[in-house]
Amino acid sequence: MNQIAREIHITGIVQGVGFRPFIYNLALENNLTGWVRNSASGVDISVTGDPEEVMAFIQQIPIHAPRLAQIDTIEVTEKSPQHQTGFKIVPSNNVMSDFMPVSPDVAICSDCQTELFSSADRRFRYPFINCTNCGPRFTIIADTPYDRPNTTMAAFTMCPDCRGEYEDPTDRRFHAQPVACPVCGPHVWIETPSGLITADQEAAIQSARQHLTDGKIVAIKGLGGFHLACDAGNTAAVAMLRSRKGRPAKPFALMSFDIASMRQFVEISSSAEQLLSSPQAPIVLLPKRSSDLSELVAPQQKNLGFMLAYTPLHLLLLEPAEGYPKALVMTSGNLTDEPILRENDAAIEGLSGIADAFLLHDRPIYRRVDDSVITLVEDQPYFLRRARGYAPNPIRLGQSAPQLLAVGPQMKNTFCLTRDRYAFLSHHIGDLDDWETFQDFQREIDHYQHLFRVKPEIIVHDLHPDYASTRYALLRAKADNLPVLGVQHHHAHLAAAMIENHLDPETMVGGLIFDGSGYGPDGTIWGGEALAGNCDSYQRKYHLKTVPLPGGDASIRKPARMALSTLWAYGLDWPQSNPAYLALSQQEREILQFQLNAQINTPQTSSMGRLFDAVAALLGVRESISYEAQAAIELEAIADPHEKEYYPCVLDGSAIDVAPILSGILKDLDDRLSIAAIAGRFHQTIAHLALDLAIRLHRELHLSRFVLSGGVWQNQLLLKQTMFLLENEGFIPLIHRQTPPNDGCVAFGQAMIASYRYQKQKE
Ligand code: ZN
Ligand code: ZN
Ligand code: FE
Repeated sequence: MNQIAREIHITGIVQGVGFRPFIYNLALENNLTGWVRNSASGVDISVTGDPEEVMAFIQQIPIHAPRLAQIDTIEVTEKSPQHQTGFKIVPSNNVMSDFMPVSPDVAICSDCQTELFSSADRRFRYPFINCTNCGPRFTIIADTPYDRPNTTMAAFTMCPDCRGEYEDPTDRRFHAQPVACPVCGPHVWIETPSGLITADQEAAIQSARQHLTDGKIVAIKGLGGFHLACDAGNTAAVAMLRSRKGRPAKPFALMSFDIASMRQFVEISSSAEQLLSSPQAPIVLLPKRSSDLSELVAPQQKNLGFMLAYTPLHLLLLEPAEGYPKALVMTSGNLTDEPILRENDAAIEGLSGIADAFLLHDRPIYRRVDDSVITLVEDQPYFLRRARGYAPNPIRLGQSAPQLLAVGPQMKNTFCLTRDRYAFLSHHIGDLDDWETFQDFQREIDHYQHLFRVKPEIIVHDLHPDYASTRYALLRAKADNLPVLGVQHHHAHLAAAMIENHLDPETMVGGLIFDGSGYGPDGTIWGGEALAGNCDSYQRKYHLKTVPLPGGDASIRKPARMALSTLWAYGLDWPQSNPAYLALSQQEREILQFQLNAQINTPQTSSMGRLFDAVAALLGVRESISYEAQAAIELEAIADPHEKEYYPCVLDGSAIDVAPILSGILKDLDDRLSIAAIAGRFHQTIAHLALDLAIRLHRELHLSRFVLSGGVWQNQLLLKQTMFLLENEGFIPLIHRQTPPNDGCVAFGQAMIASYRYQKQKE
């Protein structure tokens, strides 16, 4: 008989997604013999059979691949036919130098959800039901290849029933590594803050529900860490959570059982529904409807951050019942500014002053991963935080990169490793000011390097000498004898936005970088910059005129100080009836005046974020803040989006003079124009400023592509207005689509710049 044989090597996300059973069944359908196995770099297949059937098999692989698989390459080599019987799934072949992507965690699938609520099923109401298409992945994986011994499920020995499913290639749970059932798998229980177990299994879930109904706060061990939950409709409960957590105003995320229950609280477009119900199941910011949710959930906000119950445990907790809350607050179980907690003992110790009860389980979380936060811009996802469900999916590059480590910034830290055509941008790590977060940062760098087999040849860091990440980079480079490269913060923003929009690294773009702060090589703090550049280099063409930041952080926490400092810098009087003036005591104003005149601890900044703060304070929207960017967020929320007027600004060489904006605002205040209208005018002003800068860059350098990067672009009103103006002028605005516009993108940008320069140097 005329037979042929082929060996096939597939790379991409092909482990932990039901790939081998898919190959097994496809091989049987085509009457092929041979085997399939996981390797450390993907999946290897060997087939022998009729030539037509072998070819049909190869063609069908990309077409019918499982939902969660992402194939990057398929490599086929000819072999001489061998006598084989049947088709087998054989043990993994782990070659240490190879690597492969690891699947992110996946929200519960509809099949598992059906079984969860079917009384006849042996996993009826089992909080850890999962299958090849869903369940925990990245949060439980300690090493590759993705096999059970390399996960935190290693300690659970499968019962004969689970083992049968696990070994049956026709079963939905064939080689589902976290497979478990009530007989053999993890279980839940509930404890008091003093460590007394009061109920377990179903009774524990019912007890947690009772606590929530009673207005209590329950700490819940989830997928990537702990959440603190309470009834979002119970103002007393939400107020208690705010006061115990020391979080007066920062919005809380919410969770509902299904889209129908969520609809009572927020507007859900069809693309929002799709995103909410996706395997990633992120928190999506949605327009708030008037409802009986507590105002304290997200004070002064137009949007609410909602996610769907994404694990079986969450579904059981939120199962609809008469009189039961239709939305729960589900906020990260951490102490302010510390990382989300992931271990039972640490959670009880850390949260005992906050939670009235702890719903725990014994499936360890290998790494903490926060919920991702996304908003929709032009119906497409726009990241605010990239974590669960997305990390560690690599960003695919147009060209090969060297092996390098970019350590990222201080706030909203992520780091980035590259190799081949992949950039492994880490999940959101957080603010490295916090010691625990910094420990996590170091630990995760080690894990990512190991998982993705990256041995950095160069380390890239921010220019800020005092960032913990910079210090880590310098120490590490010294210890490992590696070269380092410092990258300017806003150059990194520019590079990230251009590469994720698939531009060639040499393409020149304009960068409208409106940010909070970034270390400038001239010793000032940058953040309102118009750059021109590419991955090789940049020029700072225009920037906001610098103003003093008296006391540094003190002025970031108190926008009223920023307002007065900005007026002072432009030689404008402090109007005595202005809210920013009244928000400071006589003594504070005197010290401020003295500090400004004597230039004591007054670093200079061109930050756009600080200008938003100053304006928010002048309008009396927010004079002091309790969370990052609060003033700007509230200014956006109050702004009239239909306002068309705007204030002028003038250019003084390369410096943008905002004096006319400030005087315009003060005059409109005197004229008793509404705060909404003035805030609206201010947004239009900055959008028109962006347009003006783009026109200048076009005239001078013939640029027509403009990247919009920096934390200020989280402001959706400003983003939409600016995109409209730029497009109207025939320009191409490029916004972030794979990384956040805030500092979550910086590590990726650092990596892209270093990678480009490194390759160029080698040529
Ligand atoms: Zn499933
Ligand atoms: Zn079992
Ligand atoms: Fe930044």
